[in-house]
This record gives sequence, C-alpha cells and structure tokens, in this order.
Amino acid sequence: MRIFKYLTTAAMLAGLAFAAPAGAQEKGLVGVAMPTKSSARWIADGDNMVKVLQERGYKTDLQYAEDDIPNQLSQIENMITKGAKVLVIASIDGTTLSDVLQQAADQKIKVIAYDRLIRDTPNVDYYATFDNFQVGVQQATSLVKGLKADTEAGPFYIELFGGSPDDNNAFFFYNGAMSVLQPLIDKGTLIVGSGQTGMDKVATLRWDGATAQARMDAILSSTYADKKLNGVLSPYDGISIGILSSLKGVGYGSGDMPMPVVTGQDAEVPSVKSILAGEQYSTIFKDTRDLAKVTVDMVDAVMSGKEPTVNDTKTYENGKKVVPSYLLKPVIVDKSNWKQVLVDSGYYQESQIQ
Ligand code: BGC
Repeated sequence: MRIFKYLTTAAMLAGLAFAAPAGAQEKGLVGVAMPTKSSARWIADGDNMVKVLQERGYKTDLQYAEDDIPNQLSQIENMITKGAKVLVIASIDGTTLSDVLQQAADQKIKVIAYDRLIRDTPNVDYYATFDNFQVGVQQATSLVKGLKADTEAGPFYIELFGGSPDDNNAFFFYNGAMSVLQPLIDKGTLIVGSGQTGMDKVATLRWDGATAQARMDAILSSTYADKKLNGVLSPYDGISIGILSSLKGVGYGSGDMPMPVVTGQDAEVPSVKSILAGEQYSTIFKDTRDLAKVTVDMVDAVMSGKEPTVNDTKTYENGKKVVPSYLLKPVIVDKSNWKQVLVDSGYYQESQIQ
C-alpha cells in the first residue's frame, strides 16, 4: 500500500513536471514592488504582472508596502538579496530610492519604473506608464463637458484637487488638466471659488481620500455658504469618494443642490457604481492588463540584451536623465460608455458593477 502510494505520488509529480510549459520559471526572478493594497488598481496591477511574468517563464516576488517608504525600501533590498534579475517598481515617493537603486546597479540588475517615474537617480532603465499629461487633459475635458462650460457662459464655480506631491504623475495630471481649464478661468467662464490653485495648494499627500474630504469640508464652509459649487477636478477615485462624501454632508445631491460634476481616475468599482448612481461624473480607465504586458515585454527585452520598444524619449526627465518610456492611452469613462469600455473589454463582469 505504501509503495503504491509512493509510486502514485511519484507518477503524479512526474506528470506535473511534464505538464509544465517548457522553460517555465526558468528565466529567473523578477521583483515587483507595488505601493499599496488600499486601492484596487494596484492589486490588479500586481495580479496582472505576476500572471504575465509567470506565463513567460519568470519567477516573481510581488510585494506591497502599504504606502510606507521604509517598508518599500526594505522590500526592494530583499529582492536584490534574493537575486532578482529585474526590478519593476511602482514607487511610493519617487525620490527616495536612489541608494537602493545604486545597489541594484552595482549588481547589474535592470530597473523598470512602473506607472510612476522614479526620480533623482540615473539607475532607472525604462519607464512603462500611461500618457499622464493626457490623463489630466481628459479629466478636465470631462469636467468642462459635465458643466457645459464649453457651450454656456457660466460662470461656473469649481475647486481643484491634486494628487500626492511626491508622485511625479500628480504634476502631469494637474498640468494636463490646467492646460484645458486655465483658458476658461482666464475668460471668466470658470471661477476657482477658494482661489486655491497650484500644486503647492491643491496637492493631497498619499492620494488620501480622508485628507481630501477634510480640505473639501474646509473650502465648503469658508467659500460656499452663500453660493453653489458646480464642479470639482479630482485626480483619483479614492479622492473623489472623500470629496463626494463632504459634498453630501452639506446637502449636495438633493433638493435644489445638484451634485457638482466630480471627476476621478482608475475606474475603481465603487466609483463606477457611483457614476451609475449619478454621483461621480466620470473617471479615467487605465487598462492595467496592457500596462503589465508592455512592462513584461520590457523585462523580456532587457533579459535578452535587446532594446525594449518605447514610444517616448523626451518627456520623462527624472532629474538625472530622460528615461525612455512607453506611454499607453487612457480612456474617459462616464455613464454613456462604461459598459462598452469596462465590461465589453472583459475588465469587469457586469455583475461586479450592477
Ligand atoms: C497613478 C494613478 C493613481 C494614483 C493613486 C498614480 O501614480 O498613476 O492611476 O490613481 O497614483 O494611486
């Protein structure tokens, strides 16, 4: 009986080994450092990266740092110690990785910045991301459309929220948005009621929804006691949720106080539901499946000594060099196209949304 069991197990193991795709897990270890699990987008990013890397024969070490910078540093050091051949990093603070990336460079480990640019170091080889300026343009375009500020004279009262000031993307989103909004502000069609403009005034550390909610509360009580707010530029769904809850708290979304037009980013499930419920106006969809694929193509190329495909070699100056980049296209999602963009593409099941 015992021998039979042994033989069966051995046969099963042999079968398994035989069944594994040729070359699987043989191409070496790739470390994937993600910022936080507090936002669904990064969970999807991590899952997609592991899936595609493993399909292509890599071992993976995926770590989340819960937005804690020292934690992310030690996770990356660990990946180096474990013998990673390539590091794929979505940084928390893009300026804090210089020392650990020097260690990586000393050991000839290639580094790919994932979604967020890593700054102030020459030791970042490539950057895979979305067209971040365009994200901001799309957010503002959607805000203008929701307000009808492209066809009506207004004035419309708006407020501006920015992302985390330690994330290079936040500046691209803000600048992209202002390229659309500033001309309308100059014309008087849009008025920033609080007068708070510029990333030094509107940024939201760590993209934190509660921080944004507190700022919205303060602005509503200082500025909107005797007039109505019409729209809010929000750079990320988690921030939009905080803003919406502040707005609801003072009565917007009922009676004679229509919900202001609020933008977002990442097409996270609670925000898509909010769009269907008529609260959040829009979001920006960035297909993390495509980002994973582009990034793993870069990994494959550097591992075989080839040049990865890039489509931008000018934009992403990180303080030490221009990092060759691949920029994917973001897509505006609102009530009119959510099904087509998010469900027909297989990104979500319809049952997740409604
Ligand atoms: C990403 C956005 C995300 C934000 C907050 C940015 O770096 O590009 O997609 O909304 O971080 O997580």
